[in-house]
Amino acid sequence: MADSKTDPRAGFRMDKTGNEYRLAGVIDEHANLDFLRGVQGRITVNIRDVRRINSVGVRQWMDAMRAIPTTANVELVEARPPIVDQINMVAGFLGRARLVSFYAPMVCPSCDHQEEIQLDVATCRAAGGALPSHPCPRCINSVMELDDVEEEFTSFLRDA
Ligand SMILES: [Zn+2]
Repeated sequence: MADSKTDPRAGFRMDKTGNEYRLAGVIDEHANLDFLRGVQGRITVNIRDVRRINSVGVRQWMDAMRAIPTTANVELVEARPPIVDQINMVAGFLGRARLVSFYAPMVCPSCDHQEEIQLDVATCRAAGGALPSHPCPRCINSVMELDDVEEEFTSFLRDA
């Protein structure tokens, strides 16, 4: 586990497998993102298990994203809604990284079933920022709706 960094104080965790890095927990002043300064070539950073990011964490994150070497191609995958909110609110949040996929919080208007569905940024951009229609797995003939203000949540899909 030489490539694993764990900080129990903050619950931030980074694990590396091949050219995929997985971040988990909370991004705050204890989160060490320095590995991004030394990355090479194409790498994937999976942020599915990042639960939240505080204001100090946003600054650390942006410093790290700006410090990605020009020789590297960093693809962020599986951003959860709290991170999507940051991408929408904070100009330059992604720095030199590129967001590839994200989760949209969906709710069924008929049965209130809630589910986060994983979506592909390029596919949604090609559709003009529209989210694909997603049938409720519990109801027949019911289409789930975004459990958020769609125009705000999807704004990052329209500025490229
Ligand atoms: Zn339903």
